[in-house]
Amino acid sequence: MKAVTVIPGIPESLRLMDIPKPNLGKGGQTLLKPIRVGVCGTDKEIIEGRYGKAPEGSQYLILGHEAVAEVVELGDGVDNVSVGDIVIPTVRRPLNCDLPVDFCPINHYLEHGIWGLHGHAAEYSVTDAKYLVRVPKEAIDVAVLTEPLSIVEKGIDLAIKLGQARFDWKPRTALILGAGPVGLLATMTLRLLGLSTVTTATRPLDSLKARLVKELGGTYVDSAVEQITGEFDIVIEATGSPQVINDGLKHMAPNGIYVLLGVYPSGGSLSNLGELMTNVVLNNKVIVGSVNAGIKHFEMALDHLKRAKEELNNWPAKLITKRANLNNYQEAYTWTHDDIKTVLEITPPL
Ligand code: BGC
Repeated sequence: MKAVTVIPGIPESLRLMDIPKPNLGKGGQTLLKPIRVGVCGTDKEIIEGRYGKAPEGSQYLILGHEAVAEVVELGDGVDNVSVGDIVIPTVRRPLNCDLPVDFCPINHYLEHGIWGLHGHAAEYSVTDAKYLVRVPKEAIDVAVLTEPLSIVEKGIDLAIKLGQARFDWKPRTALILGAGPVGLLATMTLRLLGLSTVTTATRPLDSLKARLVKELGGTYVDSAVEQITGEFDIVIEATGSPQVINDGLKHMAPNGIYVLLGVYPSGGSLSNLGELMTNVVLNNKVIVGSVNAGIKHFEMALDHLKRAKEELNNWPAKLITKRANLNNYQEAYTWTHDDIKTVLEITPPL
């Protein structure tokens, strides 16, 4: 079978390989036929040799953690999915960890397509059935957005639950820093939840990103030319840029919750750290980091994708701005300024 692979740690090692079809190993597994996978910043880091780990005993790693796939074979004891189901494989598996898997600390998990487990950018893949989420028919066309949206769902769920752990807190406004797939999906979800939103990026007002924000009824600010104004109950950092973190801190409302979703390169500085943190303390603000997501947040993501398709004029589909396939797979892993979500089409469903 064909598979998109890299040798982790080696830049420029992206290859389409012809390798044997995987077999079902231990009980509880399923053989999947991936339909499509999304490409994200983590794939970029892996391709550039800055992240990623091959499975034990393998020289290469098959990419692809944002997948939609069809179940084609069941291992012993699998009863939660059937052959022919369209599913989303969640990303993480625990390694000597009893916590909910998305809360397992570094070195206590593996991740398909990222860290120690092959991904789904291949004609077949294998994973544990209990980590699969079934996709309703109405959402199959946009289900490739489920994994990035699950990250957003967990972040927003945390913000609301942490806020309400203190008193009957009712967030009304949100600032979303960044208008990549995560920032845009966060804007979509917060709008569906009824919050008024401001989303910022460094793209002009007539750009696709700005238009997509406006279609949601949100406000868009081109932060290259305009200042952010106001204070917000929820702030979501989705740029991954250390310089931007400070903007979020400055615009938190009293009792506000700041959710950091980026992975930040080293560098950046805060000249007035003491003042900023005193303000966090005296206004009961919360700053929280969030990574990965469990089954519950994948299910919430699918519900919101269905709702957004119906109520927002098929808005999620507009995030997919580039498609490639296994014959021109390199296209999927080439980043251009105005792409939002790139999708690698692998096999059409039967
Ligand atoms: C994925 C997460 C993963 C994280 C760290 C992200 O791109 O969406 O599922 O936990 O990378 O590896």
